Amino acid sequence: MGITFVRNLPTPGEIMSEFPLSESLRERKKVFDREVSDILTGKSRKFLVIIGPCSADNEDAVCDYVTRLAKVSEKVKDRLFIIPRVYTNKPRTTGEGYKGLLHQPDPDKKPNLQEGIIAIRKMHLRVIEESGFFTADEMLYPENLTYLSDLMSYIAIGARSVENQQHRLASSGCDVAVGMKNPTSGDLSVMLNAIYAAQQPHEFIYRGWEVKTDGNPLAHAVLRGAFSKHAQCIPNYHFEDLHLLYDLYHERDIKNPAVIVDVNHSNSNKQYEEQIRIAKEVLHSRKHAEEIEGFVKGLMIESYLVPGCQKIGTGTHVYGESITDPCLGWEESERLLYDIADLV
Ligand code: PEP
Ligand code: MN
Repeated sequence: MGITFVRNLPTPGEIMSEFPLSESLRERKKVFDREVSDILTGKSRKFLVIIGPCSADNEDAVCDYVTRLAKVSEKVKDRLFIIPRVYTNKPRTTGEGYKGLLHQPDPDKKPNLQEGIIAIRKMHLRVIEESGFFTADEMLYPENLTYLSDLMSYIAIGARSVENQQHRLASSGCDVAVGMKNPTSGDLSVMLNAIYAAQQPHEFIYRGWEVKTDGNPLAHAVLRGAFSKHAQCIPNYHFEDLHLLYDLYHERDIKNPAVIVDVNHSNSNKQYEEQIRIAKEVLHSRKHAEEIEGFVKGLMIESYLVPGCQKIGTGTHVYGESITDPCLGWEESERLLYDIADLV
């Protein structure tokens, strides 16, 4: 067998009792989650903005970022509902490269998953305690979900995972919003099937248990652009794309039709500054048709302290600059958030 069992890891229960969320924050999370749920079900007209670095690679820089974000959020809270991206598990196209804080608590050092599960829990907790936000992360490994599930208010299923049955089944047991991304091919039926699957109850095997779930009515779509067979980016944020998804949603028996537009990835072709133009185009499309205004519930934006991205392993490290996808810098992100608040 080619797998070496290195060590037995602490269980989510052990990690949670060592690094607990306080009773008062648990109560605050219920209110925070309710706001997200009200947006997705149409009870609230606020606009969701899920914003933050591609990967949360450094606890201090991430906490610095979310503290700034909390000040902006306070000023626009009558119109926007902001959730910070605290992404600690990174899917890699070829399997190579930085796989997130879970794997490498220090990006310049060797992977250490035992330290990683503690590092991701501590970072999410510190973000919550210092900023008052609850967090968004990607569920890359369904079996790891419960290390963080009491802290997250938004869970994304990535473009490379959305066709996977275990991701869909685990999503059906989440009690917060789960955004299903379109796959890298752009096939909308894969994403819609994932949403449908996550909204149904299921029985399956999870962490050595036979489990059952109730189904998650907050599972919804995230458009992130696609790749053609000629490896060209095909954006899917235009008015026609939004309307096509709206029509496809309504041909199916799916609850709470909703889409979030991810303005980076294959929508911007990772030209990170284009996120500003794309965000504004989506807001314009919303104003163009009432059904699209109700359907497009928010945006996802990649943003950090310093614009662009840097390579790791070069010996120099710029504080607050992305080590995965290029991000907007803080100043332009702040300006964009105020512009979004004016345009919704
Ligand atoms: C991300 O959000 O950083 C990401 C990896 O997204 P996707 O799954 O759309 O590539
Ligand atoms: Mn990214």
